[in-house]
This record gives sequence, structure tokens and C-alpha cells, in this order.
Amino acid sequence: MAVKKNTLKLKFDSSRNLAPALESKSVAKIAERYDLFINGKFEKPSSKKYFDTINPASEEKLSSIAQANAADVNKAVVAARNAYEKGWKKTSPKERAKYIYRIARIIQERARELAVIETLDGGKPIRESRDFDVPTAANHFFYYAGWADKLEYAFPNRNPKPLGVAGQIIPWNFPLLMAAWKIAPALATGNTVVLKPAETTSLTALKLAEIIQEADLPPGVVNIITGAGATGAALVNHPDINKIAFTGSTDVGKLIQKAIAGTNKKATLELGGKAANIIFDDAPLDQAVEGIINGIFFNQGHVCCAGSRLFVQESVYKIVLQKLKDRMETLIVGDPMDKNTDIGAINSKQQLEVINKYLKIGQQEGAEMFQSACSIPKKGFYCRPTIFTNVAQSNRIAQEEIFGPVLSIQTFRTEDEVIEKANNTPFGLSAGVWTDKGSKIFNMTSKLKAGVIWANTYNKFDPTSPFGGFKESGFGREGGLHGLGAYLKV
Ligand code: NAP
Ligand code: MG
Repeated sequence: MAVKKNTLKLKFDSSRNLAPALESKSVAKIAERYDLFINGKFEKPSSKKYFDTINPASEEKLSSIAQANAADVNKAVVAARNAYEKGWKKTSPKERAKYIYRIARIIQERARELAVIETLDGGKPIRESRDFDVPTAANHFFYYAGWADKLEYAFPNRNPKPLGVAGQIIPWNFPLLMAAWKIAPALATGNTVVLKPAETTSLTALKLAEIIQEADLPPGVVNIITGAGATGAALVNHPDINKIAFTGSTDVGKLIQKAIAGTNKKATLELGGKAANIIFDDAPLDQAVEGIINGIFFNQGHVCCAGSRLFVQESVYKIVLQKLKDRMETLIVGDPMDKNTDIGAINSKQQLEVINKYLKIGQQEGAEMFQSACSIPKKGFYCRPTIFTNVAQSNRIAQEEIFGPVLSIQTFRTEDEVIEKANNTPFGLSAGVWTDKGSKIFNMTSKLKAGVIWANTYNKFDPTSPFGGFKESGFGREGGLHGLGAYLKV
């Protein structure tokens, strides 16, 4: 089916002619090569191998990253075990809190540098790394620092004790923030850590290693090892790990669950999603359209809880679709270092191929594709904001996680119908409801099978609220009090 180009008269086209407002790269001190952070020092990998990390916006190489093999993973786990047994588990909670506060403050001090590196390495707009990723990462450290000496109040009469050594594996969509989600509660509860960042976005985790050195955290309490999937698998399979905390795809989550079955390892798995954003006819439509745009195009749709399915009540379908298309035309796709950019680069060539594959599948399935008419840079990995209408519930674009700026749109008439449709995927991570009526919100939130449900807003995060999924979106919660419990024997 042919792709329909937008023929609308643009209402806000002036925003696309903004002069470039580039953030300077000069604050980003990126070394030519990064080694593994083990026992408080940077060490060469015993594999002697390094891999490149590139800037997906320009395809330029940024640095070489050490590839940890099983021997390196073992070294890191031994360092974490020694640090746990010899010191960290006996360190007073107040002392632990001091280190965590210190890390939070240094993140704030180095916020600009971290934001620039996050954007260069991962492709997300500088506005997002600057205003969301980095401050929220610092907030997680602040929040969990506050809990470190109050665990008996958090879990009264339950004598909370740390688990030991935590193996933590994170994805590429929020590299520093995911590291903070994992490391902060683990340290607050007295565990030690071996963290593996994603292959395409290791740089801010390695900068965090520098910050951890600067904060004087005792050696071995946090170890950061880089590498690909095999490095993650070696961590999962290491016999001296007490807990695996994994955020990533459902496929890898399933492999991990198989690998640890029959062991004493505890696990939390934060996996994929296919969230429904539901608009009723009594919703404030302009706000709802902003919420949809934020829900799916924020961070190029590289968000596990992205509102990738839209359900619009039939009576307002036409007007919502028109408003949505108009708004899409004003989105600026391009250089993520430009402060005007709304949609940056897709994280990797492989991920762009996955997204493009789904654009073909959607059209082959008979859905109608619409993309905004914006231009995109010639070099680098980019995808125009895309919506599909005429989508059937059984279509793959309505069932599978695409992890890109691609929205599938369906209509509904009644609450029961939309609940049935929204719940009809293997996932259950998040959802959004837009309506003027409180009673409708309560009805929907009690019946939608999703770990997080936003009402009249979308993609809002806070360290105090737990996050996690149902069904194939995983189990266990991160954030808030629940996030502490996941690192404790109670
Ligand atoms: P992924 O391919 O599952 O990778 C996640 C992490 O696991 C990476 O560090 C990866 O290393 C590593 N890994 C790969 N194979 C492994 C194995 N066999 N054993 C152990 N570790 C292994 O996911 P992704 O593509 O990076 O991230 C996107 C996914 O994350 C999406 O499905 C998204 O929904 C999910 N996500 C979920 C949440 C949540 O809170 N629920 C939050 C963010 C993202 P490499 O980088 O080298 O492949
Ligand atoms: Mg990169």
C-alpha cells in the first residue's frame, strides 16, 4: 500500500525554521578507550578486546570500550563479594547514606557533561538528557540515600538484611537513569553490585564509575563491566551472585529466568511493553494529543512504557486524528545536540532496521501508514514519527513491541470494549486514560492489567513511585519502597 504523504496546510510550520541551537560538545571529556571498573580501579580486560561505541546521530566513533569475558566477570564478582563480606554489610547505614548522597551531588555537579555524553552516545535529544535523564538519576540517589538508615521503619519488625552481591543488567534507552535505578537501592540496602550497561551506551555508566571513585566509595562496592550479551550471560550464570536485576527485552528476560531456575538467585525482571493510551470523548483533547505525542515520540519511542497503541472513542476519532497529524507536522527530527530537536536519532542501525521492518509489516497487514513530512539528516539513524490507522487487533504492529516512534491507532465505543482490547496483548507494563470523569478513571485503572497507569498525563516518573509490569512485562518492582524490598531479606 502506498504511503499517504500529508497534504495538510501546516498551522505551526514556523517552528521548523528555527535557527540551530547546538549544545557544545566541549564539556564532554570522552577518553579514547575505557577499561573495566573493578575493585575501584579501571583495569584492562583479560580478553584484550575492545569494541567501538558510536554516535548514532552521525555514525562517528566516540571511543573504544573494553569487552569483559567470563574471567573478567569473575574478577568483578569476587571484588563485589570481598567488599560485601569485609566491609559494606557492616558499614553503618548512616555511613552508607553519606556515600550515596555524595554520588547524587556529584551527578548534579557534572550534570551538563553527563547530559552531553548521554546524547552523543545514545542519540536522545539533549533537552531530554538534560531535563529528564540526568536530574532523575540524581533524584534516585538522593531518594534512596534517605532510606538507608530507615530500613527498620520501612519494614517494621522484619529485621531487613541485604541479599549480598547483585548482578545488574541494563538496556540502552535510559543508560544513566537505569544505572541509578539499579545501583541506588542496592547500596542503600547494603548490597554490593556488578553492573553491565548495554553495548551501545556504556559511556555514562563509565562516567558514573569515575563519580563513584570521586565519592570515595570503598573499592569493590560497585563494579562496572562492559561487553555484549555474552558478558551479561556470564554475570547471570556466575554462581556467587545472590540477585539478578534485569531491565531489557522479554526474550532475554525469559533466557535469564531459565538460567536461574533451580538456583537461590533472586530476580527482578523489567521487560517490554505495548501500552494502551485511551482517549474518551469527554477528555481535554488538546492535552490528550500532547500526551499521545509525549507517550510515543518521547525518546524516539525507545521507552518500555511508550504509549504505542492509541484507542480513541469513535465520536472524537476524526478530530483527534486531525489534531494528532497537525501536531506531528511540527515535530523536529534531527541532530539530538540541537536544543530544538524533539525526536533524535534511533539508538543503533540494528534498531532502525527493526523499526523499518515493522513499518513494512504494518503496511503488508493492510494498515494505513502516515508519516510527517519533515526532512531527516542523511547521515545517522533516523525515523520520522509514524502512525498507523485501520489497524486490526491481531496485527503484529498492535501486538509486538516495536520500540520506535510508531503508533498504532484503533477506535472503540464502550468502556468494556476498550478494556478488552487494551488488555489483549502479552504485555502489561503501563497504560494511559484520558477522560474528564473520575469514576471512569477508577473503573479503568481497576480493570486494565498494567503495572503503571497514568490518568490525564503520560510518561511521568518519580523515584518514590514503584514501577514494573504484569504478564510478559516481567515481575518485581523498582522505585519507591517496593524497590528497596527487592534487595532485602525480610
Ligand atoms: P536487550 O537486548 O534485552 O538487552 C538488555 C541488556 O541485556 C543489555 O545490556 C544486553 O547486552 C544484555 N543481554 C543481551 N543478551 C543477554 C543474555 N543472553 N544474558 C544476559 N544479558 C543479555 O534489550 P535492549 O534492546 O537493550 O532494550 C530494549 C528492551 O528493554 C525493550 O524490550 C524495553 O521494553 C525493555 N525495557 C524495559 C524497561 C522496564 O522497566 N520494564 C525499561 C527499559 C527498557 P547488549 O547491549 O550487549 O545486547
Ligand atoms: Mg553509542
